[in-house]
Amino acid sequence: MAKKISIVVSVYNEELGLKQFYEHTSPILSEACAKSGWDYELIFVNDGSRDSSLEILKEFAAADDHVVVVNFAANRGHEAAMIAGIDVSTGDGVVCMDADLQHPPEAIPGIIAKFDEGYDVISMVRTAREDAGLFKKITSAAFYRVMNKMSKANFENNSSDFFGISRRVALVLKKDYRERVRFLRGYVQNVGFKKTTLEFKASARVAGESNYNLKALVKLSLNAICNFSDAPLKMGIYAGMTSLAFAFILIVYSIIQFFLGNAPSGYSTVVVLICFMFGVLFIILGFISEYLAIIFAEVKNRPIYIVDSIITKNGEERNE
Ligand code: UDP
Ligand code: MG
Repeated sequence: MAKKISIVVSVYNEELGLKQFYEHTSPILSEACAKSGWDYELIFVNDGSRDSSLEILKEFAAADDHVVVVNFAANRGHEAAMIAGIDVSTGDGVVCMDADLQHPPEAIPGIIAKFDEGYDVISMVRTAREDAGLFKKITSAAFYRVMNKMSKANFENNSSDFFGISRRVALVLKKDYRERVRFLRGYVQNVGFKKTTLEFKASARVAGESNYNLKALVKLSLNAICNFSDAPLKMGIYAGMTSLAFAFILIVYSIIQFFLGNAPSGYSTVVVLICFMFGVLFIILGFISEYLAIIFAEVKNRPIYIVDSIITKNGEERNE
């Protein structure tokens, strides 16, 4: 039987560019598959879009039996959408990509070739970003630096949510990485297996606007850090030891001054110290709370996503 590639596309309010995506991607997929002897399925996960994305996706599914539409009951975020797509995928290789053509479908034949060579994880690395300003580039580079410093895991700089994984990696994600708070591309890069990278140029969004604002990016970064490292939890110990050392020096200094007859005048010292110490204390408390919130989310064990319906051309039911 022919091997099959599953393309997972997350869709949130993409009505403006969706048709263009489909019309651009389908021929590339058909051609790539005709050449390589693979079959394909195109899985769109509608992540609770509030525009007409679902209607457009239904049209695709009605006309094309390669298309599977997973329709969420509510918006759950990009990562949950990718996870759902991976869950329903039946391919020997799975590729996750965005619906806004920032991840070029032209790269898919190359990914299929890598699967044929026996690779399990194909990380797509951005070489150029037409969409990102200087601020985004700098913060993103800084983020990967910090991540690699703080955690034993390894993170590819400039990696993206565009990647290919083999069936067995998909199975690991399906079975063993069911965390509520997660960093999917971090898992993909750190499951092991035979791994390679391919480069791509991220173009500007085809239509519509980015859904990731600064707040969402900060949240993603914080989650990623807390998920892969316990260094922030240990910060308290070092902060405590440092301030103890300072305190000790101050005590000795004060005693000497006392015996020399010039009792230290200390208003500003006290104010500065209090502000500083409370600052450190609250940051540490904040990090502990962050971990607590993650534990809380995991303990509650709520579903990562809720499926409303799965739509295919012949109306076949699929398990998620
Ligand atoms: N997306 C999603 N759920 C969300 C937000 C975004 O499924 O809550 C999808 C979106 O439709 C797109 C992809 O995730 O296909 C990436 O989102 P976006 O382009 O807004 O992010 P950026 O490329 O700017 O990082
Ligand atoms: Mg985008």
